[in-house]
Amino acid sequence: MPTAQQAFEESLLENVPLAPMTTLGIGGPARFFADVMTTDALIAGAAWARRLQLPLFVLGGGSNVVVADAGFPGLALRVSITGLEIRFDDQAVVITAGAGEEWDSLVARCVANDWSGFECLSGIPGRVGATPIQNVGAYGQETSETFELVEAFDLASERLVTLSAAECEFGYRTSRFKTRDRDRFVITRVAYRVLAGGKPSIRYADLQRYLAERGLERPALAQVREAVLEIRRSKAMVIDSADPDSRSVGSFFVNPTVELEQFEQLKRRIQSQGERGSNIVAFPLSGGRVKLSAAWLIEQAGFKRGYVHGRVGISTKHALAIINRGGGTAREIVELKELIQSRVFDLFGIDLTPEPVLIGM
Ligand SMILES: Cc1cc2nc3c(=O)[nH]c(=O)nc-3n(C[C@H](O)[C@H](O)[C@H](O)COP(=O)(O)OP(=O)(O)OC[C@H]3O[C@@H](n4cnc5c(N)ncnc54)[C@H](O)[C@@H]3O)c2cc1C
Repeated sequence: MPTAQQAFEESLLENVPLAPMTTLGIGGPARFFADVMTTDALIAGAAWARRLQLPLFVLGGGSNVVVADAGFPGLALRVSITGLEIRFDDQAVVITAGAGEEWDSLVARCVANDWSGFECLSGIPGRVGATPIQNVGAYGQETSETFELVEAFDLASERLVTLSAAECEFGYRTSRFKTRDRDRFVITRVAYRVLAGGKPSIRYADLQRYLAERGLERPALAQVREAVLEIRRSKAMVIDSADPDSRSVGSFFVNPTVELEQFEQLKRRIQSQGERGSNIVAFPLSGGRVKLSAAWLIEQAGFKRGYVHGRVGISTKHALAIINRGGGTAREIVELKELIQSRVFDLFGIDLTPEPVLIGM
């Protein structure tokens, strides 16, 4: 019987192109690559990379990464640990899923069982293991509302650990995994708590409008899932090989949040620039903060839908999505990102933060 270390070394591949493993379809090869199906293989892979002093990069479904054209000089570990455990706890259902499970299959399964908590998160590509990284969210719902526990291999202490939701420090499209502990934990399993027979969450204006227009006053979870998928399709926010606008990482920038005072200053600044001021798109948050629409800022800065920059550009359906128009490079993506950031900053004094993770650059 081979040891986990031997089994890992046998599964190791060299110079593996990463572009086909990403939704953007961009990026060079990984010097070493392994698809790990078990926690033991993952731990063996991490130990191997440490011994050789190679950098480690953890890949899921590749839907939120921009890989450098030169690729990644160390070990890319794709976490493909599968498996679901379901436990009932009164009205709640606790689902523990392997990090390699497809996120949207889990959502579909919950909706089919009439378990609420994920319905607005329908159609988001990627895998379970990445959902805590940026606290995946959409249409008024966030995964942080359902996280129970995150199991991970801690590369610092070289131990398997279990983190509570509070310990993950979730925020809007962020967590400790994306900030102070970036690259420290490899997530192996995630436990979520959803509600059996719960009501759908319909907080987002676009979704409310869509359902009202169809006379769906008390929609079932499945109707909410269908509505979300339909709205997302119209914005190329579901992966569709027939739609080149979906060759993206979804939204490229997070919506900036500012203090009320900064918002008032921004309004004055915009009004002084002429016609733009009156229709600034922003949403009040609790605690006196305001969320600005990154898409609005980008369009106002002159980057309209369909904007072209070499072989990359902006989706014709959504100003927030940077797309690979065919044969694009990471260099072009980064150039366009920087162009947008500097023009938005010059005009509005707002720093746009990218949502995807840049790998090897
Ligand atoms: C069309 C489209 C629409 C999208 N819509 C949304 C949306 O509405 N809301 C939203 O929040 N996101 C959205 N995204 C972004 C993306 O789908 C999510 O962030 C998703 O969770 C990424 O999952 P992944 O498995 O593809 O992660 P990857 O892209 O493979 O990795 C993303 C990051 O997570 C890390 N990571 C992945 N797996 C693990 C693991 N097991 N342990 C530790 N680190 C790990 C990686 O190292 C990397 O830093 C969209 C993307 C696309 C292409």
